Amino acid sequence: MEQEFCRPSELNFKNKLHEECGIFGVYSFNSNSKISELCHLGLLALQHRGQESAGMAVSNYNEIKSYKAQGLVNEVFGGEELSKLKLKEAHMVLGHVRYSTGGEDIPENIQPLNVNSSKGKMSLAHNGHLLNALSLRTELENEGSIFHTSVDTEVLAHLLARAEAADIPTAFKEIHSKLKGAYSIIILEGERLIGLRDPKGFRPLVIGKLDDSYIMASETCAFNTLGAEFIREVEPGEMIIIDNDGLKSEFYSNNQHTEQKSLCIFEFIYFARPDSYISGRNVHQVRREIGRMLARDSIVKADIVVPVPDSGVSAALGFAEESGLPYQRGLIRNSYSGRTFILPTQKMRELKVRVKLNPVKEVVSGLRLAVIDDSIVRGTTINSLIKILYKSGAKKIDVYSASPQIVYPCYYGIDTPEQSELIAGDSTVEEIRDMIGADSLTYLSLLGLISAVGIEKDQVCTACFDGDYPIKPGS
Ligand code: SF4
Repeated sequence: MEQEFCRPSELNFKNKLHEECGIFGVYSFNSNSKISELCHLGLLALQHRGQESAGMAVSNYNEIKSYKAQGLVNEVFGGEELSKLKLKEAHMVLGHVRYSTGGEDIPENIQPLNVNSSKGKMSLAHNGHLLNALSLRTELENEGSIFHTSVDTEVLAHLLARAEAADIPTAFKEIHSKLKGAYSIIILEGERLIGLRDPKGFRPLVIGKLDDSYIMASETCAFNTLGAEFIREVEPGEMIIIDNDGLKSEFYSNNQHTEQKSLCIFEFIYFARPDSYISGRNVHQVRREIGRMLARDSIVKADIVVPVPDSGVSAALGFAEESGLPYQRGLIRNSYSGRTFILPTQKMRELKVRVKLNPVKEVVSGLRLAVIDDSIVRGTTINSLIKILYKSGAKKIDVYSASPQIVYPCYYGIDTPEQSELIAGDSTVEEIRDMIGADSLTYLSLLGLISAVGIEKDQVCTACFDGDYPIKPGS
């Protein structure tokens, strides 16, 4: 799957606001003049979670300095901007990377969101999606609230500001039952850093330690980059408060023990970086196991295994190991191509794919290929890839998807298209095979996926495959 998910839509778009994001926060017990550099490195490690904008807020308890802009982390913070974020006696930093939709990618929506209220100044960084953001916003507007952005994070900021409780942790406990959806959030305010994960735990959030600092991040790969020690995951329904007294934990949700957990299984398939750990599992190893499972469940008649890079690489390795076929880099990815535009004709779409992924003729020519992709969303990329591979002389192309058919849209922070735009939305496997132009098409079964991930079905969200939504859309 190559950039087939459309990226986040905003609040006023089909009542869905999707934020595919990476969040990163540091609390240092001693003042740290290099805290913004730490955040810069952390955001670079999380770049895969959001490539359209980046932002940072630094605090010395009295003042918050912030800078955010559209672009990759190094485009935003590679020049003078980092030095402008210097604050005397800085103790805390909060960073964010995000995707956004084309038309509504307004600068105001870039996070961290900085807010001034009677409870003081705070910065918020959010990964996820509140299903009821629009209705909450309408209520708040009817009561006089004025919004400056179209992101759901601002809804949370207003709820916190209007809560009766004087401090933010108590305010969150007061208002959390109003929130429906997926959220992993870091809040920088006053003299503390607060980490929150929704009661179902859709999106990951982890805690690490580096020297005299605690770190919270979307993924453990950010700790590896910094040489920080991974401590543990923030549990679903847990609030972490880090201040001068140390790290405190409390569960804000009353039904903590009965709430069914719903970790997004797609983190294992596509979103997380392969060197990250989620629920104690290394993502690369899970993907390898997914590839093995796929090969085990298939009759493979090919000469070589070719991954669609980068997201299909780990699964293709496992597939090659299990099938005994040679693993070959038949497609080369250009990591520097950046954004490409939606192009109207098939020839131009092929060109777009070629800019990102180019076949190695010497590898594929005259051979039967087992092409492994992590998933198939609209089917446009794999369709173009197949055409390109045939033009490069491939004799036969069998496509293997390392995830089951994506039949339903996601409402929890991953902006899949509407069901009508999903190639598996109302088509059989044979119809999809025909549409993408492959000789054969095999999907991993949902049971196979769950078994490879190794987490019980009732602990993960699989809604985009089976429509079993942990929180019903519109509820
Ligand atoms: S619907 Fe799919 S992408 Fe969305 S949270 Fe569930 S498993 Fe993840």
